[in-house]
Amino acid sequence: MNQAPEPDPDSPTIKQLLVEATALLDSESPRLDAEVLLAHALQQPRSHLLAWPEKRLTAAQLATFRQLLQRRCNGEPVAYLTGEREFWSLPLGVTTDTLIPRPETESLVALALEKIPADAPQLIADLGTGSGAIALAIASERPRCTLIATERDPAALAVAEENAQRLGITTVAFRHGHWCEPLAGLQADLIVSNPPYIAAADPHLTRGDVRFEPRSALAAGPAGMDDLTAIAACASRHLKPGGWLLMEHGFDQGELARQLLEDTGFSQVLDYRDNASLARVISGQWPD
Ligand code: GLN
Repeated sequence: MNQAPEPDPDSPTIKQLLVEATALLDSESPRLDAEVLLAHALQQPRSHLLAWPEKRLTAAQLATFRQLLQRRCNGEPVAYLTGEREFWSLPLGVTTDTLIPRPETESLVALALEKIPADAPQLIADLGTGSGAIALAIASERPRCTLIATERDPAALAVAEENAQRLGITTVAFRHGHWCEPLAGLQADLIVSNPPYIAAADPHLTRGDVRFEPRSALAAGPAGMDDLTAIAACASRHLKPGGWLLMEHGFDQGELARQLLEDTGFSQVLDYRDNASLARVISGQWPD
């Protein structure tokens, strides 16, 4: 019978390690990062750290934690180190092939849900699904709907499909292709997307956690508008009359996004602000 390995008597305690790691980390949330990484190294929930502050680690656990800490000190995002990020209360697997889902994007999900009646069997498309975050969140709230999640990068698509499987969500069809390409012959009731929208030369791309994320999921031409523009055009061909398009955009792109949807022929164009009062999501209806 296998015995669980004994804690190393030379290991610092959980409490000591958290103090030490918090002091070392130069991130926006050093204590939280330290807790998440230590819990991950111990394969325990974070509550375990509070319950057992005097516990020492095994040599293997300590080595794992020190390695994770070093990588975080080098700037790697916590979500890539643990391979997981929660979105809309769903635990999602993420890899460096996918963007790390942001809390702000939950506003896009909330606004999409406002457009989808609770019991209508609608067809919904999520373009550039990445980890599957938006499609899976909507599917978890609207089980009668059919979703098509499109993604150009096969590696990201595999992550999204795995997330659906792990969550037991069977109403999302994952399709390989760029934006609307996989929607050939289909008209959706609602199209939603969080496309890349950062200007290619934005210094934000070279700082912090964002450096480790796929550039193809972030940058979109000189003004960051290239993909929003491409999606507005293809969505106009794949929406039913009366169907809605919702897209996330940058905080300073509200006016450009409104203009874009109006010029493409959408009506009822409205820009929403997020909790920090920043313009975030543009919506428009394809006319009847
Ligand atoms: N909101 C993200 C950021 O500023 C960008 C996400 C995106 O381009 N869709 O890092």
